[in-house]
Amino acid sequence: MKIQRVWIDEGCISCSLCQDYCPEVFLVQDGEDCVIHEEAVRFYLEKEEDIHLAAEDCPVEVIKIVETALEDSAST
Ligand code: SF4
Repeated sequence: MKIQRVWIDEGCISCSLCQDYCPEVFLVQDGEDCVIHEEAVRFYLEKEEDIHLAAEDCPVEVIKIVETALEDSAST
């Protein structure tokens, strides 16, 4: 599977855990809800594991990930 899109649903509690896992993708500024870095898409492949860990461990489960099968991007 290949990550296509990551976003934060409503309800973030600004705990910064996701930023600790993957600061290339998640940005949590003082007291603000987490946002996805503008350039995050460049790291979706390289940081795939960290992004999944962040989503699994987010205490309020608001990190959402859309994935596609790797074959989708290959010409068959
Ligand atoms: S881990 Fe979840 S609750 Fe914590 S800052 Fe990230 S998105 Fe928000």
